[in-house]
Amino acid sequence: MTNKEIANEFRFLGDIMELHGENPFKIRSYQNAYITLRKLDRPLAEMDQPEMEAIKGVGKAIAEKIGELLQTGKMSTLEQYREKTPEGVQEMLTVKGFGPKKVQAVWKDLGIETVGELLYAVNENRLIELKGFGQKTQEELKQKLEYFQRSQDQFHFSALESAANNLVSLLESGLKDARIALCGAIRRCANTLDGIDILAASSATVQEMAAAANLKEGKGGEQPTHLLTEDDLPVRLYRCQPEEFGSKLFRYSASGEFMDAFLAKYPGLDFRNLPEEQQVFDKAGIPFIPPEMREQEWALDLAAGNDLPELIGEADIRGVIHSHTTYSDGIATLRDMAETARALGYDYIGITDHSKSAFYANGLQPDRVLAQMEEIDALNRELAPFRIFKGIESDILNDGSLDYDPEILGRFDFIIASVHSNLRMDEEKATRRILTAVENPYTSILGHPTGRLLLSRQGYPLDHKKIIDACAANGVSIELNANPYRLDLDWTWIPYALEKGVLISINPDAHSKEGIRDIHFGVRSARKGGLTAAACLNARSADGFLAAVRKG
Ligand SMILES: [Zn+2]
Ligand SMILES: [Zn+2]
Repeated sequence: MTNKEIANEFRFLGDIMELHGENPFKIRSYQNAYITLRKLDRPLAEMDQPEMEAIKGVGKAIAEKIGELLQTGKMSTLEQYREKTPEGVQEMLTVKGFGPKKVQAVWKDLGIETVGELLYAVNENRLIELKGFGQKTQEELKQKLEYFQRSQDQFHFSALESAANNLVSLLESGLKDARIALCGAIRRCANTLDGIDILAASSATVQEMAAAANLKEGKGGEQPTHLLTEDDLPVRLYRCQPEEFGSKLFRYSASGEFMDAFLAKYPGLDFRNLPEEQQVFDKAGIPFIPPEMREQEWALDLAAGNDLPELIGEADIRGVIHSHTTYSDGIATLRDMAETARALGYDYIGITDHSKSAFYANGLQPDRVLAQMEEIDALNRELAPFRIFKGIESDILNDGSLDYDPEILGRFDFIIASVHSNLRMDEEKATRRILTAVENPYTSILGHPTGRLLLSRQGYPLDHKKIIDACAANGVSIELNANPYRLDLDWTWIPYALEKGVLISINPDAHSKEGIRDIHFGVRSARKGGLTAAACLNARSADGFLAAVRKG
């Protein structure tokens, strides 16, 4: 172990002890040890115990710990603290600039146990109310966390999309007579992915291409060449000849499963040396399959039967469903949210603040519900023909019931039912809880069905088929939560929902004006599952929406 590594162990020990509120003097001594040890010019590994003890600020106890580290690679005191600290909380301690006091606050007061959950909480403005936090701290933290996650090798689609598009335009404008296209998971708009894949047919050298797009050398071999953007996002650059661009684009865009299925279905089909991707499909005798759908064999079956759906596009979305305001945990007012939705060209917005049990999110007590409804009535008169619908995101309580008395529930235009608490459930319990909510006559939309946060929280296991069947039987739509950290319902369940006639609602779950734009990511993900405008709840007109969600 190097001095630096040993020093870092002491720093972490100090941090984790502070997290647990231990004796400040001891903590100070470990912090000092960190500073002393990392500046030492002789390797600790070459010293004996008395020599270490003689170092100013080290002493007997710390020297023993160093000895233990050098011999076993571990420090038992530190291990004890590790054992009583969830792994994700330990990880939070390593986020630069996010000290133990703040980690303690989010862990103990908000029950947050992973970096991903924390990032999500930041996006939902959960930290503003917390002691020692304000909007500015929250914003700084957000950037630190995003950086931290970026360095973990996996990315949300939203973290790479604009960089990827930027790369394409830089290469296209910087290289004459080049053909450039995204391929791989980024072209398929995968929910999460490990980098940007790009295909280039150009006479330029790798160095010239890298220079044109401000790319740095990355780790890894040739073909593809591993590069990094200025922000250290991984890029894999594939090169080919112009006359085989279509063949390569097809090959590098397919998922493993899709390619296997394709090769099995069309054995011996020679699709090499084709300049246009369309020619690959022509040779196979099937229509062009949109890249988003090139994940599973299913898309090939549809293509073979000439049954490919006309995929939904962003322009098909007519209403913004699932939005929060300053009434609960949003940071924009009701008026701001409505006016923003209208300015973006939508015909209507469905306001769904949190319900009364969601104390952490300033959920609405019945009198606040009624006050909001009055404000909506007034705004509706002012903003017509734009329409604001009265909704609520009702917590699904532990027993599956909704959060208000029928007297209040009956006043809403529509109700999204979502699980926000007690997320640790086995499949049976989770399925039962959600079935109860779906069967509730007031429920119109099931919100983020599994509670997952991509790359950070798995979500409870669910019998999706049972839930979708129940939604069909009860006229309940299912949300595809468009927040790029959720994208829940997972797109792989869309085909079954379509088969059962269940409508999908692409909801931004917006907690700010900017949040409305997340609809973009929801649409990208929905297309992967073959969603059509006809099967999308908020692609309907305002009246069509209301007709579909009004219960009883
Ligand atoms: Zn929610
Ligand atoms: Zn929400």
